[in-house]
Amino acid sequence: MFSLKGKSAIITGGGSGIGRAISVLFAKQGALVHIIELNVEAAAQTIDEITKAGGNAIGYSCDVSNQAQVIDVFNKVGNIDILVNNAGIAHVGKLETTSEEDFTRIFNVNVKGAYNCLYAAIPALKKSSSAVILNMASIAALVGITDRFAYSMSKGAIYAMTLSVARDYMADGIRCNSISPARVHTPFVDGFIAKNYPGQEEAVFEKLSKSQPIGRMGKPEEVASLALYLCSDESGFVTGNDYPLDGGFVKL
Ligand code: NAD
Repeated sequence: MFSLKGKSAIITGGGSGIGRAISVLFAKQGALVHIIELNVEAAAQTIDEITKAGGNAIGYSCDVSNQAQVIDVFNKVGNIDILVNNAGIAHVGKLETTSEEDFTRIFNVNVKGAYNCLYAAIPALKKSSSAVILNMASIAALVGITDRFAYSMSKGAIYAMTLSVARDYMADGIRCNSISPARVHTPFVDGFIAKNYPGQEEAVFEKLSKSQPIGRMGKPEEVASLALYLCSDESGFVTGNDYPLDGGFVKL
């Protein structure tokens, strides 16, 4: 079940958190994993973990918001069956405290970055007999998290991008879905707490954990498990959908 043997997967932001957990699990299930990362040292750590476990992974230094760099990397990779658009950055602020610079930065990475990778991936995915795209959205796209104006907007764009791509490329045999996690305990969350609540890290971590109906944050490995299903042949009938992975956040 859920074997990725013989498949080639590109995972953006595979050096940390959710992207690292997806990279490690996909390699364990037999995929050749290509990690696209801004942070090459972080990518090297993921590759080391994969290699020690007997898997195969290659890292590429690349800023997903730079189209020329993305196209160059995809040309180097060649054939692919799976694209996981996972790289993303956060921003805290309501509309009034979101500068044009903040807005542009968030959209350049979270939205244009995903567009750049899709644009570069489609020709190769058209040649695959089991092509699949997975985009990392967020519950911010579904409920509009407080104080996350630009971030919520950017994840809303990912949600719509998923539907558009699923429709346009269904006839080419390419499936496209997204996952919308609630808070998952990764360096992304730790960095947010450290930056915004210095000295209160433990208390804020506890408060954020309890703010989720299930009473804790998600684990990167839990996102990776759903990602594996959505990128495997077992989910062959699944396309054009978003999957909240949220400990009950959206509906309870
Ligand atoms: P993380 O910060 O731990 O990892 C993100 C990785 O992306 C980092 O290794 C970083 O170097 C890389 N990256 C950032 N900008 C890049 C760029 N321009 N080009 C290439 N690589 C780049 O984050 P995470 O928590 O693992 O989040 C991964 C994804 O999941 C993001 O899209 C995030 O928005 C989404 N998400 C996270 C949570 C959460 O609570 N952690 C919740 C919902 C959605």
